[in-house]
Amino acid sequence: MRYDLILTGGGMAGLSFLYQLRQAGLTGLRVLILDREEKRSNDRTWCYWETGTGPFEAIVYRSWDQVRVHGGPEKPLHLPLRGYRYKMVRGIDFYRFMDRFIREDPMTERRVAEMRAIRDGGEEVEVETDQGTFKALQVMDSTWRPPMETPGRHHLLQHFFGKVIVTPAPVFDPGWPDLMHFGIPQENQCRFMYILPLAPDRALVEFTVFSESLLDRPEYEQVLDGYVRGQLGQTGWEVEETEFGVIPMTDEPIREKISDRVMRIGTAGGYTNPATGFTFARTQKRIAELVRHFRTTGQWDAPRASWQWRFGLYAAVMLNVLEQKRAPAPELFYDLYRKNPIDRVFRFLDGESSFGEEVRLMQSMAIRPFLLAGADVLRRRIF
Ligand SMILES: Cc1cc2nc3c(=O)[nH]c(=O)nc-3n(C[C@H](O)[C@H](O)[C@H](O)COP(=O)(O)OP(=O)(O)OC[C@H]3O[C@@H](n4cnc5c(N)ncnc54)[C@H](O)[C@@H]3O)c2cc1C
Repeated sequence: MRYDLILTGGGMAGLSFLYQLRQAGLTGLRVLILDREEKRSNDRTWCYWETGTGPFEAIVYRSWDQVRVHGGPEKPLHLPLRGYRYKMVRGIDFYRFMDRFIREDPMTERRVAEMRAIRDGGEEVEVETDQGTFKALQVMDSTWRPPMETPGRHHLLQHFFGKVIVTPAPVFDPGWPDLMHFGIPQENQCRFMYILPLAPDRALVEFTVFSESLLDRPEYEQVLDGYVRGQLGQTGWEVEETEFGVIPMTDEPIREKISDRVMRIGTAGGYTNPATGFTFARTQKRIAELVRHFRTTGQWDAPRASWQWRFGLYAAVMLNVLEQKRAPAPELFYDLYRKNPIDRVFRFLDGESSFGEEVRLMQSMAIRPFLLAGADVLRRRIF
């Protein structure tokens, strides 16, 4: 059988693609989803900010209209989100929601299969797997990952280990997630705690690092447990769940369109913000554009706004500042949130700010590290 569309990778991007396709009324396309896993565990938590509601509002587990940022031991910044909400979707809720959705969709088939190759033959695409070869008019691939080896580009990793813990005492304020808490030893890297409070005695507590290589697994746990013991003053807490993740932070050129009938989406399509690792909301937005474009033109490759290139350049400069340690990361991020209204920061990170806002943002940051970084980015790209 030939499918209209094969989604190689049925994770966040693949499943979001199917959902948005159907929500847009494109219910007649025959779709096959291929993934090596069945997606039965709560393997990740997605957080994102948005104004209004997005496609997965029904499964938002928690949301907040304020966040905190701690630059170090000094008092934290309390930041009302000015029209945005910071939302949390649990992986398991997303996968179950999509399981139910797919069960009721007669035009979608899902298979557990290891994808081996994608071949665009011009008239159709062949996807070779350990369960056989499948054919389609179009493939959206979310299995690919950037090689992180292009010379002259930045290749940082955002890596984190988190636990949902239940503490003996009520030490969390459910109204205030901690976006970045730099009050831990930096060890010459960028290290912070990220805390999503779920109840006074329950939270996802995550130790996050931006660096070039991963730590040994026990070190993540030591730092995390040390924080709960030392700064929250707790002993004997329970662990409900753990999560470990690595997100590429890179300015490597990533192509979305691979051939006439093959595109990459999600992390594979370059939808991750290189400087923050946030991918969920950007994926929803880009998929909405692709689906809208297909509905009106019958073509998948919706053009991107040409002025978007400048956000890639800003991200590269930020990566350079972090990679070359041109300024202490706690000061950098603390300044960003202290000197700018948070809606300006969010619009900037979403690639939706005006040029005037970007100038004001730049003026608020230490000028020297960014000038040096900008010069280095240009030097690397030219030579
Ligand atoms: C633990 C964790 C937490 C995160 N938290 C956030 C967050 O809070 N906010 C945010 O914006 N982003 C977050 N991210 C980043 C990003 O949103 C996620 O990585 C997201 O899942 C990316 O979606 P994706 O579809 O590109 O990749 P995935 O969701 O990883 O989907 C890719 C799929 O491809 C399948 N696959 C891979 N290779 C093959 C193969 N050869 N054959 C068959 N199947 C294959 C995998 O099994 C997987 O299901 C997080 C990432 C991780 C790892």
